[in-house]
Amino acid sequence: MSIRLGNSCVNCDNLVEGNTCKVHGVKVGNSYTCDSFEMKAALKDDTNCVTCIRFESSDCANPQKAAPGMSCSHWAPQNATA
Ligand code: SF4
Ligand code: SF4
Repeated sequence: MSIRLGNSCVNCDNLVEGNTCKVHGVKVGNSYTCDSFEMKAALKDDTNCVTCIRFESSDCANPQKAAPGMSCSHWAPQNATA
């Protein structure tokens, strides 16, 4: 399985107050993820090139096609740390 910057506890809908995972009942960090990952609805609705950290950078997978309203499987959030 490839490493994905976007699938982190920090973007997961199962993260609740106190950095606690409501699925596992333990404290987690933004460098963790698991198979129960669920993208937060707010991010799910806002995944396009303009909100992608790779937009207009050398990391963009599709620089010729990247544009507002477009997205691809390489989308990654701007506020995640890994
Ligand atoms: S451990 Fe899994 S389910 Fe829990 S917050 Fe992280 S990604 Fe989500
Ligand atoms: S084409 Fe993909 S990698 Fe490039 S900015 Fe859009 S979503 Fe991000």
